[in-house]
Amino acid sequence: LAAKSVKGIYMKYYAYYDNSMRNVLLEEQELINGIDKSLENGEFEIYFQPKCNMNTNKITGAEVLVRWNHPQKGMISPKDFIPVFEKNGFIKKLDQFVWEESAKWLHKHAKEHKILPISVNISRIDIFGLDVQDIFQNLVKRYELDPSWMQLEITESAYSSRSDEIIFVINRLMNHGFTVLMDDFGSGYSSLNILKDINIDVLKMDMRFLDKQDRKSQDIIESVIRMAKWLNLKIIAEGVESKEQVDFLLKIGCLYAQGFYYYKPMPMDAFEKLLENRDLV
Ligand code: C2E
Ligand code: CA
Ligand code: CA
Ligand code: CA
Repeated sequence: LAAKSVKGIYMKYYAYYDNSMRNVLLEEQELINGIDKSLENGEFEIYFQPKCNMNTNKITGAEVLVRWNHPQKGMISPKDFIPVFEKNGFIKKLDQFVWEESAKWLHKHAKEHKILPISVNISRIDIFGLDVQDIFQNLVKRYELDPSWMQLEITESAYSSRSDEIIFVINRLMNHGFTVLMDDFGSGYSSLNILKDINIDVLKMDMRFLDKQDRKSQDIIESVIRMAKWLNLKIIAEGVESKEQVDFLLKIGCLYAQGFYYYKPMPMDAFEKLLENRDLV
């Protein structure tokens, strides 16, 4: 769908009359018209993917990831609808829903379990279209949370332009006690530049951006980790899928991971079950 929607944009200008293309446009239009209703109907659900300490195998937190359970199309992947929602602005509504659900969950769990921080995703569109700081402060107040329980993941590419404004917003969030993670660190060229301008707390480095286990990739990962340590940044390896990766990461001093090797994203009840196992937290 994501690829199709790109085609859709071009099509608006070049090929209105093409039949197969028209179907693509209709599909996208349908998607856009349906979303408010989808939200009302409870088709969106939050999933949790645990983050682990690779030395102890214990769960240290989780990332909240949205899922769309479409009545006709079934489970749709965020990769297919997030880019569309970022284009049409619906992401602002959807993310506010996700943040609210996450805050509710934390409120409920603050009483039952040992508190684990959870992270939510913030899109670049949210930063420019919403008063993100006001929203999170409000959530923290209404649900009686400590700001440190809610971590905010902002993807590296969000900084690609108007970075001064983004840095301003992030600094305000951090001054109010929120932890900010730079997601997808290393995926773009801007990463290193940004680090000198902003005191982010955590870097998430996606293993999938790097080629398998060749020497050069390993050297890159190792120097990123060394640099992160030097700058006093915590680093989480994401997309960790194998024991080999775990061994390598531990050897070079990276302690935290999120990836299929440990857990896939799971529904709330499965995550809660997991947390009931005291050996895991
Ligand atoms: P992301 O923020 O980088 O999230 C991590 C993605 O990597 C998730 O995909 C997760 O399922 C996947 N992943 C984690 N470990 C592994 C692994 O070991 N192997 C593989 N192959 N994949 C792994 P997901 O849930 O499909 O989300 C895709 C992207 O959609 C996210 O990437 C994020 O950019 C966006 N997204 C998801 N939920 C939200 C949301 O609530 N709000 C916003 N704004 N964006 C979201
Ligand atoms: Ca993320
Ligand atoms: Ca990521
Ligand atoms: Ca419970």
